[in-house]
This record gives sequence, structure tokens and C-alpha cells, in this order.
Amino acid sequence: LADRLQQTITKIRGKGKVSEADVKEMMREVRLALLEADVNFKVVKDFVKRVSERAVGQEVMQSLTPGQQVIKVVKEELTALMGGEQSKIAVAKKPPTVIMMVGLQGAGKTTTTGKLANLLRKKQNRKPLLVAADIYRPAAIKQLETLGKQLNMDVFSLGDQISPVEIAKQAIAHAKQEHHDYVLIDTAGRLHVDENLMDELTQVKELANPDEIFLVVDAMTGQDAVNVAQSFNERLGLTGVVLTKLDGDTRGGAALSIRAVTETPIKYVGLGEKLDAIEAFHPERMASRILGMGDVLTLIEKAQANVDEDKAKELEQKMRTASFTFDDFLEQLGQVRSMGPLDELLGMIPGAGKMKGLKNVQVDEKQIGHVEAIIKSMTKEEKQHPEVINAGRRKRIAKGSGTSVPEVNRLLKQFEDMKKMMKQMTSMSKGKRKGGMKF
Ligand code: GDP
Ligand code: MG
Repeated sequence: LADRLQQTITKIRGKGKVSEADVKEMMREVRLALLEADVNFKVVKDFVKRVSERAVGQEVMQSLTPGQQVIKVVKEELTALMGGEQSKIAVAKKPPTVIMMVGLQGAGKTTTTGKLANLLRKKQNRKPLLVAADIYRPAAIKQLETLGKQLNMDVFSLGDQISPVEIAKQAIAHAKQEHHDYVLIDTAGRLHVDENLMDELTQVKELANPDEIFLVVDAMTGQDAVNVAQSFNERLGLTGVVLTKLDGDTRGGAALSIRAVTETPIKYVGLGEKLDAIEAFHPERMASRILGMGDVLTLIEKAQANVDEDKAKELEQKMRTASFTFDDFLEQLGQVRSMGPLDELLGMIPGAGKMKGLKNVQVDEKQIGHVEAIIKSMTKEEKQHPEVINAGRRKRIAKGSGTSVPEVNRLLKQFEDMKKMMKQMTSMSKGKRKGGMKF
């Protein structure tokens, strides 16, 4: 499916104009991609509606590269839906800052507790205390103690005969005494959301008055994750979500749904079992992952950063009046090059390898170097009026650029063809055409 989306994108990408039908087609693919990534149906519906409205609006239709603009809108809206960068953790006015970790059994609470503590110490030089408040799961306390040993960090536990509320109470007192500035409470989970669990967690919350309540969710659970997040949020009021097991092959659509349904930011993602396998949540990265667009977005950003819109307009004007010269050609080559190695750029375009037209594009950096050398060996007059380049001049240019006469001939021929093509293109669209820079 991601392939189909990419095909649609590739098709639209090159267009100078997109029609409403194009947008519709693209939105159909985006919709499918999202559903397949396990994004909640209602979330998808709202999303597609919002993007469609923007995509047929002025901002896109009047841009130089409408196909790319549509993709940009999709990305922006997806990113906005997942919130901005949200990895900050609250700091209590009076230490210790208390973080309560909640979630279903096996979601990764205990592991994430260790990961977060590790992060707090490493990045913020904090002194966290790990609290073993899961008294139900066999060996849960032991698991946290083992993590504590690995991290060389204090673990507070009172065995499994004391209630979690009491454990939390004593742990906080202990933290104050020992000058721990963070207290991370690893709570119990169940296989399903149930009343007893929620009651107990509510009690712990009331006593510990946590600054953060993080829900740990297994990204692989897909749609179910949304219901889980909703239940926990209703009962406890979450301040953040940690999405674990994103190292698996899930697309992570749960991230989108959770955020949209609970309006709780996703703060971190877990990317493995190791204690350093945690990262701040990046909405844009997640957006690409969900859409399966690979590096398309990076490519677009590169293009946008490097191709000056005013220059593009100026160039378009020149094409229209067929006053395009070798000087312009050289400048355009420079712009393409400033985006990075050509084959790397092509590699970012999904399916570029398969596209027929692109096969004939010279990806060889050396060739471009030759072209540049040839143009630079021309006199000012020759660059502006290539028709004056006769046999004698061709020999001189070849010699001056360290190339050969056939190479010079080929370039001159290509340039002539290009100009002819531009003339045709511009007369066809009678000057209404918006698309300029297509490499
Ligand atoms: P808890 O029951 O919520 O405390 O879950 P645990 O922390 O015990 O984790 C359950 C299992 O998931 C363990 O085998 C962890 O190693 C594993 N796990 C946790 N987070 C991740 C992650 O981000 N990626 C992967 N691949 N495994 C994880
Ligand atoms: Mg646990």
C-alpha cells in the first residue's frame, strides 16, 4: 500500500498543476495508509477532511510545485495532530518530582521506568529513586531491583505484602531524606483495564500527588491502544504517553489515534529492550513512518531549502521568452548540486529506480563536472548566444575544459533540445503554466 501512495505522489509530484481530482486520489491513498497503520477510523476521517480543504485551497493551487505542496500539507497536518516536540518532563517546585508509570501488563512499564531514570540522570544530572509498587506480578519487584543494579541506582521496595499506596507514601518520605530529586513509581498492570486496578491507581495518585502520570503503551497493540489510553485518561488524567516497542514492524498509527482521542502528548518512544533504547518523540518522523513515505519529506525539505522561489520565477520567465542561456544552465546545475550528491537525491525518491525517465538521467557526478567545465570554458558571448559556436570554437572549448569535441557537441545538442522543449511547453500553456523548476 505504501507503494501505491508513493505512486500517486510520484505522479502528482511532477505536475505543474493539481486538480481537485488529483487531490481526491491522493487523499484516498492517504486514508488507506492511515487505516492500515491502525489509526482510528474517526481520526482518519477528520484528518482527511482537513487536509483536503487545505489542499484544494489557494496555498497549494497557486504554488510553484503543487504536488509537493499537497504532501507538505499532509505532513504538517499529521505533525500537528501529534503535537509538537513534547519530551520535557515536569519539575516539582518542591522536590522530589513524582512520576507515576501506569499501563497494562507487559506494556513495558518496568523497563521504561528504568529507561527514564537513566535518561534523567544522564541528560539532566538528576538523582532518581525507583519505586517497586507492582506487588502482584510475580518477580516484578525483583525485575526492578535488577534494573536498579544495572543502572547503579537506588530501588525502594517493601516486598509484596504492603499496599502500593503505603509503598508510595514511604518511598516519597525516603526520597526526601536521601535527597532524591525524582521518584519514579512502577505500578502494577492487568491484562485488561479493570475496576480494581483503576481504584488502586487512583488511591496511589491521591496520595503521591504525582507531577506526571505516564501511560506506557505497547505500539504493537494497534487500535486497542486507543481504548486503553482513553480508559486510563478518564480515570487518572494522564500527562503523557510513552509508546514502546516501536522497534517492531508496526507503523505506529496508535500514536496518532492516542494523541487525537486523549489529547495527551506522546513524550517518548521505546525502541528496544536495552536501557538506552528510548528517544524523545518526534512528530514529523512519526508522520513519515505512518505514511510509509520513506525520505520523501526530507527530500522535499532539501528542495525547498535550496531552490530559491524568486530565482525559480525568474527562470520560468526566461524559459517563456526562450532567453535561457548557458549561464542560467550553469546556475541551475549549481542549485541541483547544492542539494547533495545526485544519486543520493534520486535514492530518496520512492521508486525512482523503477521510473523509466529517470534511468536516462545522468547521475554521474563526473559528467556534471564535465558539463560545468565545458560551460565555464565558453566566452561570455558563447554562453549567451551558443549559435556562434563553430567547429573551431568547439575544439578550443574542448581543449580548455579538458574534455573532447564529441562531449562539447553533445552538450550543445542537449541544450538546443532543451530550449526547443521549453518553447513548446510555454506556448502550449500560453503563459499560464506555474511549474518551473523540474530537474
Ligand atoms: P510491564 O509489565 O509493563 O512492566 O512490562 P515490562 O517492562 O516487564 O516489559 C515487558 C516486555 O517488553 C519485556 O520483555 C521488555 O524487555 C519488553 N520491552 C519493553 N519495552 C520495549 C521496547 O521498547 N522494545 C522492545 N522490543 N521490547 C520492549
Ligand atoms: Mg512491570
